[in-house]
Amino acid sequence: MTDKVITRFAPSPTGDLHIGGIRTALFAWLYARRHGGEFLLRIEDTDRERSTEAALNVILKGMEWLGLDHDRDIIYQSQRTEMYKAAIQRLLDRNRAYYCYCTREELEAMRGEAMSRGEKPRYNGKCRDLDRGPSAGETPVVRFKNPLDGDVVIDDPIQGRVVISNRELDDLIIARADGSPTYNLTVVVDDADMGITHVVRGDDHLNNTPRQINIFNALGVAAPTYAHIPLILDPEGRKLSKRHGAASVLEYRDQGYLPEALLNYLVRLGWSHGDQEIFSIGEMTGLFDIARVNKAAAALNPDKLAWLNQHYLRESKAEDIACLLKRKLVELGVDVSGPPDLKEVAGIQKERVKTIAEMAEQSRFFYEEFAEYDETAAKKHLRPVALEPLRRVRDALAGLDAWEREAIHAAIDAVAEQQAIKFGKIAQPLRVAVTGSAVSPSIDVTLELLGRDRTLSRLDRALALIERRIDAS
Ligand code: GLU
Repeated sequence: MTDKVITRFAPSPTGDLHIGGIRTALFAWLYARRHGGEFLLRIEDTDRERSTEAALNVILKGMEWLGLDHDRDIIYQSQRTEMYKAAIQRLLDRNRAYYCYCTREELEAMRGEAMSRGEKPRYNGKCRDLDRGPSAGETPVVRFKNPLDGDVVIDDPIQGRVVISNRELDDLIIARADGSPTYNLTVVVDDADMGITHVVRGDDHLNNTPRQINIFNALGVAAPTYAHIPLILDPEGRKLSKRHGAASVLEYRDQGYLPEALLNYLVRLGWSHGDQEIFSIGEMTGLFDIARVNKAAAALNPDKLAWLNQHYLRESKAEDIACLLKRKLVELGVDVSGPPDLKEVAGIQKERVKTIAEMAEQSRFFYEEFAEYDETAAKKHLRPVALEPLRRVRDALAGLDAWEREAIHAAIDAVAEQQAIKFGKIAQPLRVAVTGSAVSPSIDVTLELLGRDRTLSRLDRALALIERRIDAS
């Protein structure tokens, strides 16, 4: 007997792992790491029809991306059929399970009777004491002999004490007619075999837990502690949908969220430590207390995720962000081989944006010509009044000895003074001229990074546009 905490994450690869699943994984991982224990990964892929490689890939990639590392080898349920069959046989041998020969019609009639008495539809135990094995040609299911009375007590660190009367539970099927084991059986056999001490999972499994505890008892193995974490809801308090949270966790990566930001966000969905909002991974593993997980469902808050991501972007090193930015730009088909240095771009942009995707969108102009101006920005800033100031700025910039931000700034300043207009009256048209839009880092830095040739040719393009406007009016 060891005191070591062993938790597990047991996803079914039947759909893309989403943010709710990842939060379950995170809480189980944190619990293990907090207590110096082990965190195991089990893939519940017994449903061969619905399990897919793609979904498995999202689980493995998603966990790796987030750094939720697991101990020991991954367990695949599809490879453990013999072990489940042996457990079913053991239960049969101990008279804790039995063959059930009831036909579909009989089961339907039972259901109908129970409902007409105003009771929950359930199996009435008809074959429970039959005590006979199948004869040739018969393909009975196997049912677990649930205790007839007494209570199952779950001392859940999150939900508190939950007591369920055995009278509420019927004899569930543990092996189908083809001999294949069912979910509640496989989970118990694996949790027992893997030595799981703490099952941390969604509260949608709370109904299964008393049944699983009874199976543990029948197998003569001590049941683990169960902690059921509440659901995550969308910002409007509804079930998660594809639009909100039910999308693959890798979409967060692709949209340019940082793993630390997503983990920080998820840990705060339902758990708190005073009023602290920012938790490094080290702080999370040091402070996480499962008993302080909130019992009520938590709602997603995309603004908070964006805020946290912005925080972690600012904190990150420019070279790390440069790698992510490069990947994103390449994905967008942008050739990033030329200047400016991606590290410099990342260093400046990381102070200004909420995601890497946004950073990439706002940095494209450094590497490629933009096809069109942002319409509103061009209408507002590339107007006839800007013609003269822009012409003068162009000349001043063309004549600069050193292409660096201070000199660029001074040149714009000088033109503004000479034209008796504010700095912004030049900076904004200039920004639209060289970036195509009204947002960019400060204008002197933008021009420095863009380089003189690109700056001047884009200024020429804008000047031509204004001239055409004047001609057309
Ligand atoms: N495979 C189950 C699911 O994905 C989880 C089972 C468990 O955690 O016990 O919902």
